Amino acid sequence: MTDEIILTDLHSHTTASDGQLTPSELIERAIEKGVKVFAITDHDTTDGLAEAHAYNQAHETPLTLIDGVEISTRWNSFDIHIVALKVAVDHPALVSFLENQRSLRSERAKEIGERLHKAGIEGAYEGAKEYAGDAAISRGHYARWLAEKGYATHTANVFKRYLARGKTGYVPNNWGSMANAIDVIHQAGGVAVLAHPNGYKLSAKWVKRLVREFKEAGGDAMEVVLGQQTIDDRSQLIALSVLNNLSCSLGSDFHFPSSWIELGRNLFQPQGVHWVWQSKRWMEAK
Ligand code: AMP
Ligand code: MN
Ligand code: MN
Ligand code: MN
Repeated sequence: MTDEIILTDLHSHTTASDGQLTPSELIERAIEKGVKVFAITDHDTTDGLAEAHAYNQAHETPLTLIDGVEISTRWNSFDIHIVALKVAVDHPALVSFLENQRSLRSERAKEIGERLHKAGIEGAYEGAKEYAGDAAISRGHYARWLAEKGYATHTANVFKRYLARGKTGYVPNNWGSMANAIDVIHQAGGVAVLAHPNGYKLSAKWVKRLVREFKEAGGDAMEVVLGQQTIDDRSQLIALSVLNNLSCSLGSDFHFPSSWIELGRNLFQPQGVHWVWQSKRWMEAK
């Protein structure tokens, strides 16, 4: 007999960061797509969660909503993302940590604007700010504006040309260490998950190093199933999780409706994997 799979998506974004659906719209869409356990993990903020819970409760949905946040950290000068799940959003250590992250974001956003200005691109900061609204500015907002203005055909190309590491608009990051972020996540009662380990343009050897050092820094789990990946990539990530004694997570990293990424889509749960929700830290978290 096989257990029924509970469709689970533990990585997503709203308008509280660089996503394009409001928290309510995102919850509605997750339900439409059959997702049963769902985490909202905006960049460096938990601001979208209150509205998401309010909507979820008011509509008496079958959805379990997990409180999350995706934290930017620095590792060997790379921007590495750690998804925090089941955090106490009002824990003082987390609140002040995220406030600092957002002030780093706001300084960085201005500097990106200045760099683009020097490269002859006018009005990028104002444009990105308008897309961000009340949210802290992300490179995702810059990418939208640059693509909209025709600086590249689509956002992936904008990154290649302007925003990726080493390009004109890239500002060397000054995020804190993985260990520090993991410590804050633990203080807030949460679980620390290494996000999209293959998403940093690292060689296989460096991905191995990253996962090992994430574990050494106190990390609990890593994403192994993503909405878009090859079977080989998935197998390699699962093997790395076993090697490093990390439990496994999965998520779409949904930002906006498109034909290539969807909530819950392709989020298989291969058998024999030790899932993050089966881990002690998850079960002990509130
Ligand atoms: P930031 O957190 O401000 O450094 O911005 C990172 C965000 O930019 C990611 O979460 C994605 O939403 C987006 N992003 C990063 N790289 C790419 C890419 N190659 N193509 C499209 N979007 C990207
Ligand atoms: Mn993003
Ligand atoms: Mn990320
Ligand atoms: Mn993300």
